[in-house]
Amino acid sequence: MSYWIDTHCHMNEEVYCEDFDGYMKLAGANNVRVSNIVCLNREDFEYTKQLKERYPNLDITFGYFPEDVHHLNDGDMDYLESVVDEIIAVGEIGLDYYWNKEEKEKQKEMFICQIEVANRHNKPIMIHSRSAARDTYEILKQYARTKVIMHCFSESTEMMRQYLKLGYYISFPGVVTFKNAREPKENALECPLNRMMIETDCPYLTPVPFRGQRNQTAYVRYTGEYIAQLRGISVEELQDQLIRNYEEWKAQ
Ligand SMILES: [Zn+2]
Ligand SMILES: [Zn+2]
Repeated sequence: MSYWIDTHCHMNEEVYCEDFDGYMKLAGANNVRVSNIVCLNREDFEYTKQLKERYPNLDITFGYFPEDVHHLNDGDMDYLESVVDEIIAVGEIGLDYYWNKEEKEKQKEMFICQIEVANRHNKPIMIHSRSAARDTYEILKQYARTKVIMHCFSESTEMMRQYLKLGYYISFPGVVTFKNAREPKENALECPLNRMMIETDCPYLTPVPFRGQRNQTAYVRYTGEYIAQLRGISVEELQDQLIRNYEEWKAQ
């Protein structure tokens, strides 16, 4: 039977802690069978491992987020490398110049460093890029040697085409369901089905019909249903393809 996968979520955030079982129950009720929980630091990772003991259907991805790089040291990189066999991918890693323009060089250095960890261990990577399209592209093109997801894709159609040429996967968040999201909708129409993923990136970017409320992994369903309708295909056809894409990415 087909089901939904949430390729990228932060169900390890404190807001979900109190009623985690309730959120998982709702995910099941919405046919969301796999949620890939993204850890931004060591504490996230240790907590998420506990969650996975109770819910084996959770996947874990771990990498240092670009905005946090200023306090990273060699010990943090060693830690990531020491747990790399316990994660499905290294991420979310990348560049974010939106909040932090001052530390571009440090961000680039840490980005490359983590790509190299993934290369050494043959792990796929998951990329965060905001207001840094050109630099992200150049670094990936030069350094990435494993399979790549561009998470929460919000760049131009032209950038999407460039990433597709490199064979990367494009992951669409709930934004595609927003009324005025012209370019994300165009991208979701143009992206080849065998390169596509969907995600919540919860707790942010809640899709319609729950826009404005807190997001959660169960709601990836609404993004998926919207895209199936947009592309004029059945929900099952989209689900089956998304499952294949995710498995291929994960299998590296
Ligand atoms: Zn991100
Ligand atoms: Zn994220």
